[in-house]
Amino acid sequence: MDGVEVIFEDGTVDKFDAVIGADGIFGSVRSYVLQDKVDQFAASPAGFWDCRNLVPLERAKAVLGKELFEQDRQYGWVGDGGFLMHDVLENRTMVQCIISAVEHSPTSERKRVLTRETLTQTLSGWLDGPIAKGMIELCLDQDDLHGYSQWEHKATPTYANGSVCVIGDAAHAMTPWQGSGAAMAFEDAMILQELLGNITSLADIKVAFKAYDVIRRPRCQRVIDSSRETGLIFCGQHTDAGLDPEKLRALLAPRWDFIFSLDMSAHKQDALHTLRDMQQG
Ligand SMILES: Cc1cc2nc3c(=O)[nH]c(=O)nc-3n(C[C@H](O)[C@H](O)[C@H](O)COP(=O)(O)OP(=O)(O)OC[C@H]3O[C@@H](n4cnc5c(N)ncnc54)[C@H](O)[C@@H]3O)c2cc1C
Repeated sequence: MDGVEVIFEDGTVDKFDAVIGADGIFGSVRSYVLQDKVDQFAASPAGFWDCRNLVPLERAKAVLGKELFEQDRQYGWVGDGGFLMHDVLENRTMVQCIISAVEHSPTSERKRVLTRETLTQTLSGWLDGPIAKGMIELCLDQDDLHGYSQWEHKATPTYANGSVCVIGDAAHAMTPWQGSGAAMAFEDAMILQELLGNITSLADIKVAFKAYDVIRRPRCQRVIDSSRETGLIFCGQHTDAGLDPEKLRALLAPRWDFIFSLDMSAHKQDALHTLRDMQQG
């Protein structure tokens, strides 16, 4: 059959030359792409949870100390089993506070209620330090504090099936430790635009989607794995570095190099060469 038939939630049925699923980590287009492998490669817990709150700058200064807000910068605090972060947002009026921690017993329920007791227990090893008690206070400055389990696609055998493909979190959901999930979605779109802009027949859409899979999957998989490992380093779990500041600095500093250094023009050229090879083969 040529084209793809899509049934929408409201019952509408329509037919398209191709479908690009950008429907997120639990999107349904992934099910079509992976067929009977969809459960095997479903998203699963990455081993961390986090919670956050946005509080007024003056409140954050009062609780954490005004010296932490003399510079406009993001602060990250590494501790045993957890990572705390705060940064000034909203034109210097609000502060984002995040508590992240290693998740020891993940469940299928991705959301958990957090109380003062659970947070105190999570950060029990660093309550005597300068930051943990204050961050607990600031995160509890809301009615209903929840922690969210971080899930990821540990592996995905293909991003494309015929005239259907997935991009963004539908293809490669990842942890937020390297801040790259949306960035990878933009790169996916850039490569698809290059490929689809260089074909002249509907039949070649399938080839373009195959080339997209070949070009994008290794890079995105590398970011997924690197991001998870970065989380372990940030949570003081790296066997060599532990909580040693110098070792942490040495380990963390180069971790973004492979993400930022990709030459986008060369990446697009690689995609086009792959497309041409497939068309000729
Ligand atoms: C805590 C956290 C911090 C992050 N920080 C960063 C960062 O600093 N930098 C970065 O690059 N990335 C970051 N990310 C990742 C980034 O948010 C995601 O990678 C990005 O949002 C993925 O975009 P997407 O469009 O693929 O999926 P989504 O943003 O999930 O969008 C999918 C959309 O599809 C819709 N949808 C699903 N099913 C259907 C359907 N059947 N019909 C119609 N619509 C449907 C959904 O409602 C949703 O709007 C972070 C993520 C988290 C959780």
